[in-house]
Amino acid sequence: MNTAPEHPPTGPADGIFVRDVMRRIEAAERAGDRREVDRLMRWANTEGSDRIGSVVAQLVEARQQAAFRATFGLPQVAAGITLAEPGQQLCDFCGVPGPSVYYPFQEFVVVSGPGGTVMSGDRMYACSMCASYVDADDWPGMAGWLGAAFFKRNNKRLFRPFRRNRTGDPVPVAPGSDPERGRTHGGGR
Ligand SMILES: [Zn+2]
Repeated sequence: MNTAPEHPPTGPADGIFVRDVMRRIEAAERAGDRREVDRLMRWANTEGSDRIGSVVAQLVEARQQAAFRATFGLPQVAAGITLAEPGQQLCDFCGVPGPSVYYPFQEFVVVSGPGGTVMSGDRMYACSMCASYVDADDWPGMAGWLGAAFFKRNNKRLFRPFRRNRTGDPVPVAPGSDPERGRTHGGGR
């Protein structure tokens, strides 16, 4: 099975590349072409990077787990997909490592219950992909990027309060820097 020419889409965002690869993998899965799925995963490793390859592998694994659970009527569980290295921030929307900006906001309570209270922290980090949706105030677009179910789950307790509590413009994050280092306030993340 052949797919489109294999050049990573233009644009600096890893997220775009990951999304493109995942779109093709999902098509191959729907077609039942396991070898094409494997090939695309290898391609993500070589054409993207080890880290992109790892994100893709985790996403594929999560999809397979979800499909297995759906088939057997098991409850779905949240998949933790992360590639954070020490001192590295992740996009608070989609989880891709290496945010390009953060948005300051007034801290709020995300969840409070018998197990304790989870505070939001006072910054939302965003990769360039997610930042483009936030800056355009395009939340339907964000839902498309994150997946409807994931978006819905996080919209009420995280994204909407974030929008209400925002206090300023996006602040650029230099590649490879750790903007959380040395901070004493606003932890909770
Ligand atoms: Zn993101």
